[in-house]
Amino acid sequence: MVLAVALLMSGQACQTATENKETMKTDENELNAIFPKGEKGSEEFFTGNAYPTSLVASDSIHTTLAGNVYFEPGARSHWHTHPSGQILIITDGVGYHQIEGQPIEVIKKGDVVKCPPNVKHWHGASPDVGLQQLYFIPNTENGIVEWMEPVTDEQYSIK
Ligand code: MN
Repeated sequence: MVLAVALLMSGQACQTATENKETMKTDENELNAIFPKGEKGSEEFFTGNAYPTSLVASDSIHTTLAGNVYFEPGARSHWHTHPSGQILIITDGVGYHQIEGQPIEVIKKGDVVKCPPNVKHWHGASPDVGLQQLYFIPNTENGIVEWMEPVTDEQYSIK
């Protein structure tokens, strides 16, 4: 009986995942959206249209957060830090990642980016192509994110 319920539940989960994928195919965004787009992120944290979606909530055993953000072209996070750092895995598109005091780094599908703890940085899409990025925030017992000021148009433009 327990097995039957487990099978039924996994069957439902598969079906839901398939439905989501098909929904995303009709999205105006031409990038391969693996995960649901989610709601538009707050202007308190993002410039432009960014859509963060939580995929894994941290708990007492797994103290790691994981999620996806879809950034439309031109959209980016505000400057911020993570107390235990962050790992980004880019699943599609082209974007920018910048650690304060360093040049903007162009990031694209297949790139993996590590940002050290308590280092001020931002990330987002390039001006012409959007970005699909997975984020992983470890050791959430130390905190998740400290938000700071927006990235100005001047800071965003690669010279
Ligand atoms: Mn970050």
